[in-house]
Amino acid sequence: ALRIRNLSMAYGELDVLKSVDLDIAAGTVTCIIGPSGSGKSTLLRCMNRLVEPKSGEMLLDGESILAMRPEKLRRRVGMVFQHFNLFPDHTALENVMLALTKIKKMPRQKARRIAEARLADVGLAARRDHRPAGLSGGQQQRVAIARALAMDPEVILFDEVTSALDPELVKGVLDLMATLGRQGMTMAVVTHEMGFARRVANQVVFMDEGRIIEAGSPQQIFDNPQSERLKRFLAEVL
Ligand code: ATP
Ligand code: MG
Repeated sequence: ALRIRNLSMAYGELDVLKSVDLDIAAGTVTCIIGPSGSGKSTLLRCMNRLVEPKSGEMLLDGESILAMRPEKLRRRVGMVFQHFNLFPDHTALENVMLALTKIKKMPRQKARRIAEARLADVGLAARRDHRPAGLSGGQQQRVAIARALAMDPEVILFDEVTSALDPELVKGVLDLMATLGRQGMTMAVVTHEMGFARRVANQVVFMDEGRIIEAGSPQQIFDNPQSERLKRFLAEVL
């Protein structure tokens, strides 16, 4: 489980997160929604310390994320980005293997077995020897997801992973994420896909101006919003 308390973060003078509290139970999917600039990406980036918060606490199964060695954190918290960040000169298989050999210091043979299995899980066994340029955007994003899964993390963070995809490729990636959720992967998902949030999330979190304004079940958030800000946001996006 992930427990966040009083998390604040600033870029220089600009306060971007203002005392955020959030709990993500093990085996659940939390979708984070909200307008552009509300701090969604920054919240995820704090969780795996791509940026350092100003104050607050984040616990992963009771252990302080801020006190964790970076290599350990990289193993325990996976992240998938909007732009897949694959290495262009490596094949799909090598991209998945690299995390295992570099971060987990795994022997190549073992890394290869795991990478092949995870690529098969995301439906890309047949494409494993292709480089990113030879894959569709949706396939590249599934390689990035396979790479995160290969690390066997406790939590995976997804930041708008379908936003850069052609519309016809979005469904395949969302279906894969829904499957992971059903299998019990703990996930924090920043998304503009309200249908996905409604169908897949156990918890939906609405952020605005660096604060969590409302959190609850999809029914509570989408069918019975309390705040004017959330009502306005939903009126714009739905
Ligand atoms: P979007 O939906 O557009 O991705 P977001 O909710 O993910 O938005 P963040 O990227 O977390 O928002 O940004 C929150 C605020 O922090 C915004 O005002 C943004 O301009 C600012 N910000 C983000 N990254 C930086 C940075 N590297 N340096 C300075 N300010 C930044
Ligand atoms: Mg963002």
